[in-house]
Amino acid sequence: MEKILETKNLSKKYQGQYALNDVAITVFKGDVYGLIGKNGAGKSTLLKIITRLVVPTNGKVVLFHSKSDKQWENNLKRSGTVIEGPAAFESLSAQQNLEYYCRLRGITNSKDVIKETLELVGLKSTGKKKYKNFSLGMKQKLGIAIAVLARPDLLILDEPLNGLDPIAITEFRKMVEKLNKQKNMTIIISSHILSELYQVATRYGILDNGELIKEISKEDFDEMSEEYIILNTVQVSGACRVLKENTTYPFKVISNDQINIFGKNHQIKEINKLLISHQIEFEEIHYFKQDLESYFTNLISENKENKK
Ligand code: ATP
Repeated sequence: MEKILETKNLSKKYQGQYALNDVAITVFKGDVYGLIGKNGAGKSTLLKIITRLVVPTNGKVVLFHSKSDKQWENNLKRSGTVIEGPAAFESLSAQQNLEYYCRLRGITNSKDVIKETLELVGLKSTGKKKYKNFSLGMKQKLGIAIAVLARPDLLILDEPLNGLDPIAITEFRKMVEKLNKQKNMTIIISSHILSELYQVATRYGILDNGELIKEISKEDFDEMSEEYIILNTVQVSGACRVLKENTTYPFKVISNDQINIFGKNHQIKEINKLLISHQIEFEEIHYFKQDLESYFTNLISENKENKK
């Protein structure tokens, strides 16, 4: 797989405090890379360094195989970004704003490009409506339209889901899919809205407190977060014995009243029967599937524990 972007030992200090600390991410061609982190985790700082809006304290960025800062800067021409809101003219329509940017960037056949772009981002029916009267979702779309006018190979979007309503989020998801699949764009999206990012992204990088604590593909995450069974009982040792002697399911004691039972073919019904026949009392038994939100929360608390 071709590496489109790599950051190596990237750090940024503001007033002696690390906003980013030794961050190494890898983005492959075709990825929709979800950069996850709470407010202040360092997402914007990372994206600003990649796009040369902020100078790192340490480390380097390799963009489209760049071998020097000059090549990195030059290769940025192959990317489109929306980092601090779109730079659109308030009193112009979507079409007029895009005409301006086509002229600025010397894009020929602008008529066709604008038509296709408006379709791609779902803004084709906004007519003469001025930017200042756009909804937040429409503004986001126009920002992305401006960023993709020159059909970049890499699109970088900082917190594009912020403030969008559920319909706008669904539209955003479809647009990202189109840009990724039809226009072969590799896309980086930062967000703290994990449920949405889960659906859009194909790989995730988890940032906490300026550190990258995990990079994982959606495939690996899905495999790892297979459904398991949570058993709540005060007779933990008895339940463990019954499970061990009568099943081959792997299980883990989580606390003095909880056991998690794993395995591909486990059946609640069967375990239920088994526990009852061995007079093990339990409060609750149910299936559970880890979502990105709980994975993220667990990783962060594990990371904090390890540092104690
Ligand atoms: P948010 O979603 O809130 O933007 P983020 O994950 O993008 O969060 P950053 O904006 O990168 O986080 O900020 C990371 C840390 O660096 C924060 O503690 C922030 O206060 C600090 N920081 C960012 N920019 C500056 C700056 N120009 N001067 C001083 N500190 C800064």
